[in-house]
Amino acid sequence: MSFLSRLSVLCWVASALLPVAQAAEEVNLYSARQESLIKPLLDRFTAQTGIQVNLVTGSADALLTRLQQEGQNSPADLFITTDAGRLWRAQQAGVLQAVQSPVLEAAIPAQYREDKGHWFGLTMRARPILYAVARVKPAELSTYAALTESQWKNRVCVRSSDNIYNQSHLAAMIATQGIAATEAWARGLVANFARPPQGGDRDQIKAVAAGQCDVALVNTYYYGTMLTEGDEAEQAAAKATAIFWPDQAGRGVHVNISGAGLTAAAKHRDNAIRLLEFMVSDEAQSWYAKVNHEYPVKAGVAISDTLKALGEFKADALNLDLLGAHNPDAVRVADRAGWK
Ligand code: FE
Repeated sequence: MSFLSRLSVLCWVASALLPVAQAAEEVNLYSARQESLIKPLLDRFTAQTGIQVNLVTGSADALLTRLQQEGQNSPADLFITTDAGRLWRAQQAGVLQAVQSPVLEAAIPAQYREDKGHWFGLTMRARPILYAVARVKPAELSTYAALTESQWKNRVCVRSSDNIYNQSHLAAMIATQGIAATEAWARGLVANFARPPQGGDRDQIKAVAAGQCDVALVNTYYYGTMLTEGDEAEQAAAKATAIFWPDQAGRGVHVNISGAGLTAAAKHRDNAIRLLEFMVSDEAQSWYAKVNHEYPVKAGVAISDTLKALGEFKADALNLDLLGAHNPDAVRVADRAGWK
């Protein structure tokens, strides 16, 4: 074959390949959520759009540190994590950028997304009171505030205040009641602890079931997951407890979100926004919420049967962006109150 004809073959091959190479769209995702909670959804997105999703999972803190260290060289386009307090930290660290999207703004209530679009809530979870069915009547329960009353002495279990869930709960109280009232509440709660804080939310459910305490504060998805997917012991523990929705005559139960933001370094901006918008489609909202027994952020989307059985509740309508702003005060309040 002559040089020229070889060249023409090469050119033909190259021109045949070129459109394919251009069509190989992708988006890079750093996720603090486990792969099993998100991968099937990403596969669905790829099937619908042809956009390949490259998923990196890790702990929320490790991924945030990585985003900060990588700076503008970060390959990540999207950062997914739990808790509005963590998303606020990511925004403060400068690793997120604003997104304007009528689709996201229409689907997600304003209190579950950052005003300028630095992050968007994708699922919602509540942090109600969990109680021992055998030893507590729901009529004895009313508000978070009432858990500081003397009748609950040595009966309250809750995890450490190191955890962002408790910090965000305190931050929500600070936003609505101020620092002094929140500190008084934290002191009262600590005074009623059945034991020094230990373990995660699942451990509080087990402790209530085992009679080590009678009430606890836990996120709804831990209860839902233990009830339906736990081993025999976990299911039995969950069945010995029930959920009470506090503050229904007041602000409502404390809620939080898992969510995502476009990274400041995003090189696949349009694809990343398409993925965010896909995540608020009815289909994605339903699947994403159900797989971890969370609530969709979008109105009118179905929830898991397990959550349905817990009944409807009034959620605190506080703008969750405030959780981050009050986080430093929340940590100090917990320290001063002796909440380990
Ligand atoms: Fe959790």
